[in-house]
Formats: sequence, C-alpha cells, structure tokens
Amino acid sequence: MEESKDKFPHIPERIAGLGELAYNLWWSWHPEARMLFKMLSRPAWKLSVHNPVKMLHDIDGETLDAAAKDPKFLRHHDAVLARFRSDMNPAGNWFYSRIADPAMLPIAYFSAEYGLHHSLPFYAGGLGFLAGDFLKECSDLGVPVVAMGFMYPEGYLRQKISPDGRQADESETIDRENAPITRVLNGMGNRLTVRVPIIEPPIYVEVWKVLVGKVVLYLMDTDIDANDPWNRGITSHLYAGGPEQRLRQEIVLGIGGAEVLNTLGIKYSVLHLNEGHPAFAILERIRERVSAGAAYEDAFREVRSTTVFTTHTPVPAGHDVFPFDLIEKYFHPYWPALGLSRDAFFQLGIAPKEPNAGFNMTAFALKASAYHNGVSRKHAEVARSMWHQLWPDLPEDKVPIVHITNGVHVPTWIQPKTSLLYTNYLGAQWLADHDNRDIWELTDDIPNKELWINHYWHKMKLILRIMDRARQRWFDAREPRLILASGVLLDPNVLTLGFARRFATYKRATLLFQDVGRLKKILTDRWKPVQIIFAGKAHPADEPGKKLLQQVFSAAEDSSFGGRIAFVEDYDEQLAQYIVHGVDVWLNTPLPPLEACGTSGMKASLNGVPHLSILDGWWPEGFNGKNGWAFEGAEGELRDDRDAEALYEILEKEVIPLYYKVDDDGVPRDWVRVMKEAIKSNSPVFSARRMTKEYAEKFYREALKSATGKAGISG
Ligand SMILES: *Cc1c(COP(=O)(O)O)cnc(C)c1O
Repeated sequence: MEESKDKFPHIPERIAGLGELAYNLWWSWHPEARMLFKMLSRPAWKLSVHNPVKMLHDIDGETLDAAAKDPKFLRHHDAVLARFRSDMNPAGNWFYSRIADPAMLPIAYFSAEYGLHHSLPFYAGGLGFLAGDFLKECSDLGVPVVAMGFMYPEGYLRQKISPDGRQADESETIDRENAPITRVLNGMGNRLTVRVPIIEPPIYVEVWKVLVGKVVLYLMDTDIDANDPWNRGITSHLYAGGPEQRLRQEIVLGIGGAEVLNTLGIKYSVLHLNEGHPAFAILERIRERVSAGAAYEDAFREVRSTTVFTTHTPVPAGHDVFPFDLIEKYFHPYWPALGLSRDAFFQLGIAPKEPNAGFNMTAFALKASAYHNGVSRKHAEVARSMWHQLWPDLPEDKVPIVHITNGVHVPTWIQPKTSLLYTNYLGAQWLADHDNRDIWELTDDIPNKELWINHYWHKMKLILRIMDRARQRWFDAREPRLILASGVLLDPNVLTLGFARRFATYKRATLLFQDVGRLKKILTDRWKPVQIIFAGKAHPADEPGKKLLQQVFSAAEDSSFGGRIAFVEDYDEQLAQYIVHGVDVWLNTPLPPLEACGTSGMKASLNGVPHLSILDGWWPEGFNGKNGWAFEGAEGELRDDRDAEALYEILEKEVIPLYYKVDDDGVPRDWVRVMKEAIKSNSPVFSARRMTKEYAEKFYREALKSATGKAGISG
C-alpha cells in the first residue's frame, strides 16, 4: 500500500511492511502480528494503548533502524507479512468454494455502528460489536463484503464518575492522524466530497476507510468545511439527539452511503441492513433504477429480492419512527424522483397497528427486503409477534422472520494464552476449524489443574489491571472514595461475578440489589465470600440508566458491602477483554424478552467463564443444564423480586458451594467440569463463523441468484 509509506517516511524500507500492517486491523486478531509490534518496543506499544498507527508515528528512528538490522526481528517481520499476504488473497476461500463465484459483485453491509478495536470508538454496545465481529469473520471466510458506516469524530464518550456517583460525560475527539483510518481521495488526489443526493438543503460528506483484513469499511464524516454548522454535527455522535437530527443522520447513512458507493464506482449485488437505521439505502437503490428508466414497481421488486434486513431489538426505543411532517420536510423532492405520490411514500413506512405514528424504519425495512431475521431463536419469535401486523393473513408462526443467532469472532475474543492451551489439547487446527463441534469434545482432555491455573492467571491479570487503573486515578488526585470503589479491595481467591454492559434499564444492573440484606450476607460471608465487578456506560441522554449506575456505584463505596463490589470506570473493548477472560461467572439479568441476544456471555463461555443468566436472548439456545446456570423470568408486578429471589437461590445453593468445593490439589474439580462444558458446548455454536455461514447459506446464496447481472452462482 503506497499510502502507508507516505505516512511513515521514517520506517526503513526493509521493515516497511509494519506500516502496511498498522493500517489493517488484521493485526488485531492475529497474536503473531501483535507480538511483532510488541517486539519492536514494549514501552511504545504500551504508551500507544496498543495502537500501531500511533506507535509508529511516535517511535524514534533509532529503534526502527535497529529493528531493521536485527535478524530475529526481521524473521518475525517476514513471517507475519507472509501470513498477512496469504490471508489477503481472495482465492480458495470458503465463500467462493461453497456459495458463489469470485466474479460476483460484493455484498454491501450498512450499519450505524462498528466495534472493531478501542482505537476506533464507533460503537455504543452489542450492535456495534456484532457488526465488527461480522466484518472480521467475512474477511476470514472470504465473504466479499463492502461496509458502510460513520466516523463519529466526537464519538468517544469517556466515562468519569463524579464524587456523587453520577456519570459525567466527557466526549473525546478522535485523533484522525493516529487512528487506523485513511482518507479516501478522488481521482485527482484531492479529498473526496460527496453530496447526499436530492435532499435539500444540501449535505456533504467526506469519506475515510478502515481496512478489516480483506474487507473495506467506508466511514462518512460530515464535520467538514463544505457543511454549515448544523450539518457538520450530523455525524459527531452516535445516535444524535432529537428526532430531526436523528432523521438527518439516517438520511446520510442510507442515501449518502449508497451515493458514496456509487461515486467510488462500487457496484453491489446484495444489500444487507444491520438494524433499521440505514434503511433509506433501499430508497436510493430504487431511485437509481427508476432514474435509469425502470418502472417503480419493477425497481422495488428487484431491490427487495436482493435485500437482507436484520432486526436487533424488541426495545421500542430501538425502532425509529419519524413524524410525517419531518419526513415531508426532507423527502418532498424525493418521492417524485421515485415516481411516487406523497401518500404512497408515507405508506412505505406505516406500521398498520399505528398508522398515524409516523414513518417506521423497521416496518419499512421489513416491507422492502425479501430476507429478514432476528438475532436469536427467542428474539425471532418476539419479532414475529411484533410484526405479525405486516402479514395479517399468515398465522403468527409463519411470519417470515427467521432467526440467525449472533456469534462472536473467536480469534478476537479468545485470550491468546488460552488459545495456546486449546492448541495443546484440541490440536493445531482448532482455531482454523473452530465451528466444528467434534474438535471441542477434546476439551475434556485438558487436565483440570492446567485449565484452572490458566484461569487463575487471567483472574490475577484482571485484578492487577484494575488496580493499575485505580493507582493512576489516585495519582490523578481523584476522590479517595472513588478509588476504594474501583476495585482495589478485590481478592483473587474470592468467587468473582462479572456484570459489564451498557447501563440500559432493561438490562437490570441492580437486580441483585433487590434484597440488600441478603446480598450483603452473600458477599460478606466469612468463609465463602463473593465479589462482583461492574462496568458499563449509560447513554448520555438516559437518565434512568444513569440512576442505576449511581445506585451500583454507591454500593461499591458503601463499607457495609465489605469491599466486595467494584465499579470499574470507562468500559470499552479493551476492558471487556480483561473482564470476559478473568471473572469466574458471567452474570446476565435482563427483563425478558428485551435482550434480543446478548453476546458478552458468549465471549465469556469461549474463555471458560460460565454464564449465569435468566432465560432470555441466546441463553435458551445455549444452556444445556451443565454449562452454566439458568432461571426462568417471572411474570407480573413482583417480577423483579421474584427474579432476584431465583438468582439468590442459584448463587447460594449451586454456584457458591460448587466454587468452594476444592480438592486437595487446590482445584475445584466440579467447577472445572462446568467450565469445560461451557467451552465445548458454546464456542463452536455461538461463533461469528457459524453465524456468517448461516447468513451466506440462508440469505446471500438465494439473494445472489436474484441479483441481476449475476455471475455464475454455484451451490
Ligand atoms: C460484547 C460487548 C458488548 C455487548 O454486550 P451484551 O452482552 O450484548 O450486552 C458491549 N460492549 C462491549 C465493550 C463488548 O465487548
């Protein structure tokens, strides 16, 4: 890549591959590539917070020159680059051998967020990580995807807890120069600027890109001189506040995104919408065909037959409904371009049960796509009941919304040391073939003690990491109470529960506090104590979520809990890695049926951390009676009390006794059996690989057959 040479003129030619690697997130899921940067300079790696672009900008020329002459470093450099080059080769991969011909046009994937790495804060939570993990897996399987999203220049919400336990929001501006992104230029070598078509007054975007292995993700940015101030802010934050700015954001994502691909000359065969936010992309695809002379009905039919839509939540706030007067304001020049009347246009977005509510993005996406899914078996059931209104003639169980359960990108979420342990007992092919269930049967052959010591090591690492953060905050002269609440009293020998996720109210972070007396008794037991690590951010506009956070925080600093509750600030991808590797039990207590899937428990299971969860989201599919713990959610007014009761029961009767039943060699044998069961039953199934193959086999293969100008499709 020529561009990376311009960016790092001080890197000697012999190791110029480093610059190329730094700008492709492929490095982030290949431990040998991470090791290469670490070998170059451990301090620089650490100071850059594991961001190779920043590291290579900051590092001194002497270190680079020495590396370029060090035979050991060169061996590693060449080996990693060889692996990288071979992985970048599209030939001979799963997708082209099983689904379609290499001559096919790519699949366009649109999403409002992507969680790829902590240096790219373009996510709020699960939806983003799902999209990020999906892109990485598409690269691994060779699914030809081109992705579209936003750069949120002020997207980084740094969480800081104030002395009264409130979350103070501080947004941090992205440092474009030091992030693994590059600007997309036009043919003249200038910044590419694209106008969002038809919409008045005009909105312009500039475009950046991120390389995710073989996949290119384009990011639109409205914070540019060509825009007036109101437009500049459209993409400044995720999910902009206020319906109008939110509508403008979704116009840019869908219509602007489609136009960017157009301008770049990227034609695509299938459109996949990750949640309803980018659904306007469908309109733009139709408009392109109408303006080329097609009748609206034909264009609609053709576009519909090649569009895939994934709905991600039953929570009402997750489904945008825009008032018709706002739709009118922005789209009045648009419906004539489609050949539609105002009413016919509005009709596209009407949910029959609430015809006057406005333009419903989910209803529209469902009507205008041929393939739709929910993200777990249970969620698809809920979605069929929510959207039965669109197919009133069908029985509810025949409503065409199937399930493709989410999964996590295994190379990203497996702890590297644990990965080596699996290699020793599951065989060298385990990672390459990780969705093969048979391989995981060998988990039973891992000696109990070895698995236990490995886990203990990660638990220590997590606690030391938390203490290091606390020390830094102490040094920054933060409140002593905050330091005490942030985990300095954690004990690696104590059964540790982890609860880390967004502080959305339906996730019920405070369910355990329903009976404070009982909780205190559990946590402060003299011989079998329990500790809990909490982390997570509330959306800045979510007052109730912030209240829950404050409640957890005040428990963390309340001495009567005996220092057994920790609240760790500033949850992000990096902290998530430490927590899902290092706690003993992953706790999940949403209000059913609102957790469409949940993925953090999958990350934990993969690393041998069993899941204790209410039966919602993925857990009804994942729980087999031996690989963790489950309870049914109660119904009715007292459901919180009863759910908490069920949770206390499981903790007191099952989890705590099992954990503390230790053999003479110091290993809790029966506990380790649960860990092994979690690893072997959940890892192959709840992987992004299984998920991505399902999208390809259930949706893309069929949609590609409908794509016009199709290349010979196999399978
Ligand atoms: C995996 C992940 C999530 C999603 O967690 P849920 O279980 O879906 O709530 C959110 N944030 C981060 C940082 C993650 O890594």
